Amino acid sequence: MRKLLITGTAILLATALGMGVLLAQKVHGPRIDAEKIRDTVKYLSSDELEGRGTGQKGGDAAADWIAAQFKSYGLKPAGAKGSYFQDVPMVGVKTLAQTTFALVPKDGAPVPLKNLDDYVTSNESQSPVGDFDAPIVFLGYGIIAPEYQWDDYKSVDLKGKVALLFVSEPESNDPKFFKGKALTYYGRWTYKYEETARHGAVATLIIHRTDLASYGWDVVRNSWGAERSYLQNDGTPKLQAASWIQLNVAKKLAAMGGLDLDKLYKEAQSRDFKPIELPVKLKAHMASEVRPFTSRNVVAMLEGVKQPGEAVLYTAHYDHFGIDSSRPKGDNLYHGAVDNATGCGILLEIARVWAGTKPAPPRSILFAAVTAEEQGLLGSEYLGKHTAQLPAQPILDLNYDALAPLGIPEEVEVAGAERTTFYPTVEKIAKDYGLAIKPDVHPEAGHYYRSDHFSLSRVGIPSFSISEGMKFQGHDLAWGEAEAKDYVTNHYHKPSDEFHAGWDFQGLAMMASFGYELGAAAVSQTEAIRWLPGDEFEKAQQKMQSKGIDGEALFARRPDLRPVSLEIFVYPQLTRQTLIGGTVHAKDDGRRRLVD
Ligand SMILES: [Zn+2]
Repeated sequence: MRKLLITGTAILLATALGMGVLLAQKVHGPRIDAEKIRDTVKYLSSDELEGRGTGQKGGDAAADWIAAQFKSYGLKPAGAKGSYFQDVPMVGVKTLAQTTFALVPKDGAPVPLKNLDDYVTSNESQSPVGDFDAPIVFLGYGIIAPEYQWDDYKSVDLKGKVALLFVSEPESNDPKFFKGKALTYYGRWTYKYEETARHGAVATLIIHRTDLASYGWDVVRNSWGAERSYLQNDGTPKLQAASWIQLNVAKKLAAMGGLDLDKLYKEAQSRDFKPIELPVKLKAHMASEVRPFTSRNVVAMLEGVKQPGEAVLYTAHYDHFGIDSSRPKGDNLYHGAVDNATGCGILLEIARVWAGTKPAPPRSILFAAVTAEEQGLLGSEYLGKHTAQLPAQPILDLNYDALAPLGIPEEVEVAGAERTTFYPTVEKIAKDYGLAIKPDVHPEAGHYYRSDHFSLSRVGIPSFSISEGMKFQGHDLAWGEAEAKDYVTNHYHKPSDEFHAGWDFQGLAMMASFGYELGAAAVSQTEAIRWLPGDEFEKAQQKMQSKGIDGEALFARRPDLRPVSLEIFVYPQLTRQTLIGGTVHAKDDGRRRLVD
């Protein structure tokens, strides 16, 4: 595998005084070693680590072990108080059997609902008890998307009320309208809870339709029946009852209000849709067991020599489901070999090689093995919300999650990369490796929003995951597809996701090497990496880069001007000032003035 050899000569782009200067430099370092990836996968998925459950002994042991590896490579700690750990304060919430839901019509008897059969619910506000008796408002999809001129809320007052809505987003074949068939974040159930909570709702009922959710009620029931983990409340609005209801129950509920759910669904497809308050209340008693605990992201850094304050970030989640004590012994340990000991194996190998690379890169490199991905991307969410705690600010995140050790791939998946200005570099490096870029075959399933890179995207950092496609050397496409199907049906999120001695790790080494090269290009390039204009994360990036300076407010008294983009240049202390977009200067002393 010639392409796996990453020693030798590489061109480094360095910056000096803000100008791009091309330097040809010899880069030396260790090689990516497929066998080292194998060793990591074997160890992390072994019985000894007990499935690396969040908040369990095995998860903590995995974090300690990963930190020890970072240390052995000579990487600096990037966590709190000189450690390799970023504490992630979490809370486990289990809905207890005493919880009750009843639909109460204006006239007539209340209709009690059955937990797990008719609905599932969890108290996101993390209090042990919650009681409410509140009117139900049908909200269509519950989406506010200014870029598509879409607002399901209009002027409704949702304070203290219960939102009833559909999962997914308005039907579309137009790529300019909710990205056509592809799912945007507006369609995800997590968004529904966040947006309705922002509007003051006390509870939200998401109507489950198998076709819209892309999974059946049994999946909802299984994942909501057990304890759910949350980040400890940080003041963001939260629901007392984040719930799903079964389609037939929703139909009954609509009928109690004299409405027809199928008709409501049709009405929800229109921009003119207006929220409908039903003459039905939800009377609920929420009883929960609340268990606070601390989990940890494991973070390390290689310091850059020219711009150490900026970094390329590599991520992979180390957690899995741990031990499920409700299952019979012998079949209750979730090994998580593919998901995601493989990503950790790659992360550690990239870390080892970067640590040995001479000379050190211009910008820094950060490595984060994150926790609680399986609980809803929580470790990475905390990381994204607290990048200020890191010694360098990420300019790009490259994530690895569940790669199949099946041999040498001929394709690479980098879904989301095409939405950034970094894509031409990705295309070039893929070509160097002889890898075809495989487009997302099921954009409607919204995979982009289901792995850790998304936690970094939503705070504005250009981010994507790197994975193999389905076509492997020496096999046809159907073979790769069959292997993937076998994994999803028989091993995904099951105790049987175990290590196999016969696995071939060359492909994972190739993916590691590919990610190393992408990182090497990103730490050296002079141009900033951005989301493309109009992308759903462009605003978040602008907000992040403005560092609290409100561009709109600066132009408030000049309707003839509007901010187009905001770029902060930091000058040496003596002459310190901030230049914005070349038109507006904001002075460091707090006084801001406009200059034409
Ligand atoms: Zn998983």
